Parts: sequence; structure tokens; C-alpha cells
Amino acid sequence: MRLLALGHELHTHPAMDKIPQLKDVVFIVTSQAENFETGESTQANFEFDNSFARELEGCYLPWEAEKVSEPRLLMFNCELAAELGLDAAALVSSLGAEIFSGNRVPNGAKPLAQAYAGHQFGQFSPKLGDGRALLLGEIKDTCGKRHDIQLKGSGRTPFSRNGDGKAALGPVLREYLVSEAMNALGVPTTRALAAVTTGDQVFRETALPGAVLTRIAASHLRVGTFQFFAARGETEIVRQLADYAIARHYPAARDADKPYLEFFTAVAQAQALLVAEWMSIGFIHGVMNTDNTTISGETIDYGPCAFMDVYDPDTVFSSIDLRGRYAYANQPSILTWNLARLAETLITLVDPNQDRALELLTVGAKEVSGMFVDAWLARMRLKIGLNSPEDNDVKLINRLLEAMHQGKADFTLTFRRLSDVLRGNGTSVRTLFEDPAVFDAWESDWRVRLSREKVSARDCADSMDQVNPIYIPRNHKVEEVLAAAVNHGNISEFQDMLSVVTRPFDEVNGQETYAEPGDKTAVPFRTFCGT
Ligand code: AMP
Ligand code: MG
Repeated sequence: MRLLALGHELHTHPAMDKIPQLKDVVFIVTSQAENFETGESTQANFEFDNSFARELEGCYLPWEAEKVSEPRLLMFNCELAAELGLDAAALVSSLGAEIFSGNRVPNGAKPLAQAYAGHQFGQFSPKLGDGRALLLGEIKDTCGKRHDIQLKGSGRTPFSRNGDGKAALGPVLREYLVSEAMNALGVPTTRALAAVTTGDQVFRETALPGAVLTRIAASHLRVGTFQFFAARGETEIVRQLADYAIARHYPAARDADKPYLEFFTAVAQAQALLVAEWMSIGFIHGVMNTDNTTISGETIDYGPCAFMDVYDPDTVFSSIDLRGRYAYANQPSILTWNLARLAETLITLVDPNQDRALELLTVGAKEVSGMFVDAWLARMRLKIGLNSPEDNDVKLINRLLEAMHQGKADFTLTFRRLSDVLRGNGTSVRTLFEDPAVFDAWESDWRVRLSREKVSARDCADSMDQVNPIYIPRNHKVEEVLAAAVNHGNISEFQDMLSVVTRPFDEVNGQETYAEPGDKTAVPFRTFCGT
């Protein structure tokens, strides 16, 4: 396969070297299983319409979940179920537990394991695929939008390699909590519909309770899905995949002069917006491999992700990311890198003249960093209360970030407490900085810049509070509620936290502990992949 001139080196856009500094239920969800297992339904109203299975034979293997011994519905997302047009009352039942554990295949489902490849930490793995997940099928929501329903942790498949195909309860709940928080923060993401405990043990370093997550996604197409077939020289399948992805996600591309180039640009735009969202809330994905890079532009795979407390662009949480490839500040350059890998798979489709195709895609891939910068700037401006763009805004934003870095200030609270300044309280934000004078210098320039905005200080403060969350899933709190659920069978702390982080912009008395950063002097927080 031909490779993009952009190469396999990390690529950074010249304008990005300072943004930030780049280096190489409702009742969302709800009560415990005991309260649920009252339903007597024998049918669920899924109206499956399985386009992937129908149109992309050869891209998957039909497969069934392993049976589990004692399925219990631990969490169910009633709000999401309603959006999807599902009958929550029928599913909050032993029937739901059977379906979402994989023990029972609902009518119309066609369970399958998808094939995909991927660059993991820069190394190409030609065969990954759904090794612990199954696509049950697709349904359309109340607005007609198509969604995948996937079981994660449903047992071994032909793609499992040495893995057990299982998921442990802690990581399942972690994905549930963080993906729902991300959705509430306005970030495109897969969603969590249900979490079921299996009654079986999963062995990691120790024996853990097993669980299955039901994940909802716009689709599970990944850059790695294209790579799987491109690497085998299956250009006809790559074309079918691209046509399918265009029809499902970017139908306007079909009418373009060069549909596959337009498709690339549309994916790039969606991914650039996504990474800009992550950067604007201090989110570190942790495993931005190409198999975890969606075609839809949704965040997927919540294994080692975490939110940063103190602002440090070099922050890495994942225990396996030894060289910091996926550090916070590297995410924009990895975005470009991953999209260059998608571009490579499309060379044969873009233009019959392969040199020309390569040239066009190289130009397209080089535009990604500019897309990111635009999206990032748009978000960061709003975070500091700016509505009408000015050329020097980027400098002002970067100076704040530098001050935060130098002053070891908490990322989330710094932005949230800026609105206090506009309401006459200048203390809450400046005391977040080790040397408040560093903030004071920035504040006076910020005020001068704000004076050119045409909104009152009060309105400006209110709109800033709509984009700067007060509650994010703080690492120490996440660990606390997961430990209560896993070690003590207490799910109520998890549910309390879920209801807080799914209303991230509304500050509520009594919820202060959820807004507090972890102990700065504690051992650095580490995350693990083992979902
Ligand atoms: P991830 O790190 O979650 O992106 O997964 C990378 C690849 O490893 C995918 O092909 C997964 O299906 C596979 N995988 C991860 N964990 C397991 C497991 N416990 N059993 C089987 N396959 C797994
Ligand atoms: Mg993955």
C-alpha cells in the first residue's frame, strides 16, 4: 500500500506549536437490580434493521455471545432508551438482563463480530477485530437516526487472540459513567444503555466480578476497519465500506466531484471537532489508536481515559503509554497522524491516477491541523467569554494556559471560576494559582479584551458557565465510587455521581465534593486498559 508523504512521523502544524504547546434517568440510570427484576415481558420492541450485516458481508463473522450464569441488570439508562424508542418498562426486567448479558438474542438481532485492524501506539496490527464485543444490530431512534447496539464483554470470538473476551465490572461502570458524562458535556460519544453483572468471575491480576456493557454508537466503523481491508489489498471492499460510511454518516459527500476525497474531509472535520472538544475540557483519551478512531467522529473506547486536574500539557494517565505518545498536548498531532492512516486506505478510490490521488489526500491530511486549530479556538474563545473573534485571541488563551501551567492551577476550576471575576469575586480563581500574581497580570489584559465585547459582564458570566463545567468525573471520585460498587456491592454512590456528572454545568449546593480536585501531592493517578 502506498503511504502518504505526510509520513509516519508525528506532524505538527506551525500554528499549533502554542496551542497548547505541542510535543513529539431522569432516572438516567437508576436503581439496583433487585428493584428491576419484576418485569414479566417476554418480548422487547427492538425494530432491528441491520444494514451492516446486510450490505457488508465479508467484513464480519456471525457469532453468538457466551452464556453467563446469573445475569442481573445493574444499570439501565431510561432516558437513552426513550430517545431510542425502546420500551424501558419491558427491558427493566429479567428479560433485559437476559438480552443485555447476551444470553438471549432478541428478535431481529443478528449478532456479529466486526473485523478491523489498527495502529496501536504506532505499530500496525493487521488483525484486531471485536475480540470481546458483538454487534447485536441497528435500530433507528425516534428521529430516524440509526444506532448500533453492541455488547461489550460478551465472550470470546474468532478475533479474541489470547484474550478471554470478558469485561470486569469496574471498567464497565467506568465506561458507563465517563461516556454519559461526556455526552452531557456536549462531546460526541458512544453512549451506555445498560450494565449487567454476569455472576461469573473475570481473571485479571485477581478475580473480579464480570459484567457486560451495552454500548450505543452512531456506528462502530473505525479507521482500522478501512485499514483491515486496505492492508490485504481488498480495494473493492474498501470501496463498499466507503460507500456504506458515506450513506450512513456523510451523505452529502456522494454528490461531490470527488466523493471519496470529500468523505475523507468530512471524517477529518468530525474528528478535528472531537479532539477540540476533548482539549477544551482537559480530557485525555489515552489510547488514540486507529482502531479507536471512529468514522462518525464519536469518542469510543473509555479504557485508560481520564480528565486532567492540574493543567500540565504533558499529562499522561495510561500505565502502558510509557513514552507519552497520547499525552494531552499530543492529541492534536495524533489526530492528524490517524487521519493520514485513513487517507492511505482511500488512495485507490480518490482518483484513477494514483499520483494525483496521493497528492490530493496529502493536501487533505495536511489541512487537518488547521481544522483542529479553528475548532479549538472557537471553543476556547467561548470559555473565556469572547464572542467576536480577534486575531490576538490565541495569544491571550495561550497566556492563560501558560499561567495555569506555571501556577499548577486546576484546569476545570480555573475556567469555571473565571465567571466569578465578572460577578465581582476575584478571589476564587486567583487562589487556584500557586503565585496569584501570574493570574492577576493575565486578568487585567483579559478585562481590556472583554471591554470590546458587546455583552454585559453578567450575561458574559452566565454564558461562560454554560461552556465551563463545574463537575467532571474527577479521577479520585471515580475510583471511590467504582470501589464501592465492585468491592462492597454498593451502587448508590455510583448512581449519585452519575446524576452529578450528567448535569455538569449546574452548580448545586451540597455537591461540593464532586468539584474538588484530587490531592496534588498524592501518587500520580494511573489508568489501565483491561476492560
Ligand atoms: P482496545 O484496547 O480496547 O482498543 O482493544 C484492542 C483489541 O484487543 C481489540 O481487538 C479488542 O477486541 C481486543 N481485546 C481487548 N481486550 C480483550 C479481551 N479481554 N478479550 C479479547 N479481546 C480483547
Ligand atoms: Mg478499542
